[in-house]
Amino acid sequence: MRKLVAGNWKMHGLSGDLGEIRSIAEQSLDYPGVDVALCVPSILIERAVREVPDFAIGAQDVHPAEKGAHTGCVSAQQLHDAGARLTIVGHSERRAAQRESDVEVQAKAEAALASGLDVILCIGEALPVREAGLAVETVVAQLGNSLPGALTAGTELSIAYEPIWAIGTGKVPTIPEIGEMHDALRALLEQRFGSAGAGIRVLYGGSVKASNAAEIFAVPNVDGALVGGASLKAADFIPIVAAAAVEA
Ligand code: PEP
Repeated sequence: MRKLVAGNWKMHGLSGDLGEIRSIAEQSLDYPGVDVALCVPSILIERAVREVPDFAIGAQDVHPAEKGAHTGCVSAQQLHDAGARLTIVGHSERRAAQRESDVEVQAKAEAALASGLDVILCIGEALPVREAGLAVETVVAQLGNSLPGALTAGTELSIAYEPIWAIGTGKVPTIPEIGEMHDALRALLEQRFGSAGAGIRVLYGGSVKASNAAEIFAVPNVDGALVGGASLKAADFIPIVAAAAVEA
């Protein structure tokens, strides 16, 4: 399966950073076997798309409703209209700070897919859950409750397994732990969607860097990465794309 390496810029990025987006887009062309995307703050999407029209620019969240009285929110249709090709949903920072439930994440994923956006749906366990030996069953249940009811022709669903304790901390699960989780997620996707579930990319996210990307990408059922901190600069991000190209 082609790997997807997606950057999550979170609440980083100003007009002055459009050049960095251009560098990432241009240098990604050296790795045609890898799909590369950047999910930027919604206020930057339109300018980023103008800067790099052939590159996949995405959003980081979407409101589940088509339109209406939702002050401060942005719909999938609006993001698509601004030129976004994809969106993250259910990132653990939003599940925590905005108290997003699995049901809400499911509605967001369905709205985004129906509006023509590819979706990266995030799931992952907190440290006490991992320490209690409950990570796999907890994350499988979380995915089961967050998945859209159906896949949509013309748009792509990907999953990002992101242990909360690994995000932005420099800590990473062991390679066997990543493998065990991704195998379990693949089994659920196949059970839910049949043969189409075998084609859904399952990304790993959480402190991915140039120094650990190659061994993570070599794990079966790891089909790419969602990258936070190391996606902000081409110098950090492109070596991760290069590692994905080797494993493609
Ligand atoms: C993320 O927030 O999606 C993420 C993976 O962050 P980092 O790479 O900085 O751990």
